[in-house]
Amino acid sequence: MLPVMRLVSPVRFFDEPMLQLARWISERYVAPLATVLGVLSPPRVAGEETVAAGTSDGAEHRPANPEGPEEATVPATLSGYRGGTEMLEAIGRASGTFLLRPAPEDEQAVAVHAVKACLAQARRAIVVVPEATPVPATATALRAAFGDRVCLYLGGDKRQRYRDWLALRDGRYDVVVGTRPAVFSPLRDVGLVYVSRESHAAHRDDRAPYHHVRDIALQRTRLSGGACVLAALCPTGEAAALGLPVVMPADRRWPLVEVVRPGPEGRASRLVQALRTVRRGFLYAPMPGYGVAEVCRTCGQPAACASCGGLLRAESGQVRCIVCSSLGVCAVCGGSTFGIRRGGAEHVERWAARSASVPVARPSRPRLPKLTGEIVVGGTEFVRDLGPGDLDLVAVLDADAAARRPGLAARERALAIWMEAVGWARPAGRAIVQSSHPSDPAVQALVRGNPDRFLAREGEQRAAAGFPVGAPVFRVIGGDGLEAALAEHRPLTSLVTTLGNRTICLLALEAGRVPGFSRAMRDLAVEGVVERVEAEPHL
Ligand SMILES: [Zn+2]
Ligand SMILES: [Zn+2]
Repeated sequence: MLPVMRLVSPVRFFDEPMLQLARWISERYVAPLATVLGVLSPPRVAGEETVAAGTSDGAEHRPANPEGPEEATVPATLSGYRGGTEMLEAIGRASGTFLLRPAPEDEQAVAVHAVKACLAQARRAIVVVPEATPVPATATALRAAFGDRVCLYLGGDKRQRYRDWLALRDGRYDVVVGTRPAVFSPLRDVGLVYVSRESHAAHRDDRAPYHHVRDIALQRTRLSGGACVLAALCPTGEAAALGLPVVMPADRRWPLVEVVRPGPEGRASRLVQALRTVRRGFLYAPMPGYGVAEVCRTCGQPAACASCGGLLRAESGQVRCIVCSSLGVCAVCGGSTFGIRRGGAEHVERWAARSASVPVARPSRPRLPKLTGEIVVGGTEFVRDLGPGDLDLVAVLDADAAARRPGLAARERALAIWMEAVGWARPAGRAIVQSSHPSDPAVQALVRGNPDRFLAREGEQRAAAGFPVGAPVFRVIGGDGLEAALAEHRPLTSLVTTLGNRTICLLALEAGRVPGFSRAMRDLAVEGVVERVEAEPHL
C-alpha cells in the first residue's frame, strides 16, 4: 500500500460489512480486491457530490416512512402458498434463505408481498431483476405499491446512476429494484434481498470478477443479515441444489400443455387448427429470419458464405452471412440465389397469419399481444418480465432445437425460457409444444410445470461430465508449470489444452478448496505462471 496523497471525495464508498463482502468475492472468484471494490459502486460523478454534501454518513438509519397508507392495498398472495407464512415470518426476522417458485400470474404480486413483509419491520429491501428494458413488471408493481419509497436503479445515464446511488446511501429510499449492480446497493438495515427470475443468464456478470447475483445475495445476507429469496418459475440447478425450503402455490397452477410432433415445415396441423380460434397468443420461435440457405441454385453446391464460410440466412428479403453479415454469395461459383430451408420467426409469422383470425405481429420490441386480439411471434428476447399474460395459447415451435445447442446449461436455460413463456397462458389458456421427443425430460418438465426431476437428471449428467452442480469452475491461462501447479489442488476435473506457448486449464474444484486455490493463484501470478483466471466460465 502506498502512502495516501490526497482525499479525492468526501463520499465513503463502502463500509466494513461491504468490505467483508468484497473480500469474500475476491477470494471466491479469484479477482483482485481492487477490481471487486470497483464494481461495488457506479463510476463517480464529482458534480453530484456537492449537491449531496449536506447529508452525512449514517445520518438516517430508519426507513423514511415505516408505515405508508398504500400498503393496505398489497394482496396477501404468499399466504396461500405452501411455506409462504414461514417465509413471510423469516423476512420479518430478516433471516433465512428460500427458493420461491411462484405461479406465473403471481410473479409480481409475490415480490410485492415479500417486500411489504420486510418494510413492515422498518427494514429495507433490495430486489434484483435481470433486465432493465422494458421496465420489468416486477419493478412497476413495486413502484405502484410503495411509490416514492422505491428507487428504480435501471439503466439511466452516468449522472443519474451516481445520483441514485448517493441517495440510496443516504437512506432516502426503502426499496431498490435494479439490475446486477443493485445487489451491492449501499442500503442500511437490509431485511430482504430478493432475486427475480433467478435462472436468467444476465444475473452472471460477463466481466471480472464474473460474479453471480445469486451467490452475492446469499453471501451478503449471510454476512450482514437479511432474508434471501431466490425466485423463479424454473430455478437453476445451482439454486435447486442448495436444498433450500421451497415456497410454491399449494394447488397446481400450470396451463394444460399438449405435446405434438412438428409437421411439414415445422407446423403441426393441431397447432394450425388451434390458431383459428386464438384471440391472444404467443408463438415462441427462437430462430430469427425466414430460413437458412441450403444449396446454391447456380452450381448445386452446399451454400456457405464466400467471405468466411459461415451459414447464410434469409431475413427481410435478403440472404446474409450470420457470422460476418456479408451479402450471401456462393463460395464456389459466386452465385447469389439459394435453395432455402424455411424456418424461423419470419416464416412462422407468414404461415400463422394465413390461419389466424386475428392480426399476427412480429414486433421490434418485446411486448404482450394487444388486448384487442393479436398473435405475437418472437424469440428469446421476447420472454421477459412483462406481467401476467392471460393468453389463450402459447406455442413452443421447436423444442428439439434446445438439445442441439452447445453448453452444459443450454437445456436448463431453454426450459427456464419455455416455462416463462408457457406461464403466460395462465390462468385460463393452454400451450402446445412441438417436439419429436415427447418423453424428453425437459419437455416433460414443461408439461408438468415442475423442473425437479429434470434438474435432478441434469445434475447427474453434469456430475458424470466432471462438473458437478455447485462445484466452483475456473478457467486458468498461464505458461509452463501451470498444469503441475494446479494438480496440487486436487481438482475434481481438469481439462488441459495448449495454444502456442500458453496452457489453458479448465478445472472444477470442491467448494472447500477455493480459499487455498485462490491464494495459490495470486502467488503463481506473481511468479508469472498464471496469466489470467476466469471464474465460472460458460461451459
Ligand atoms: Zn454456387
Ligand atoms: Zn461470412
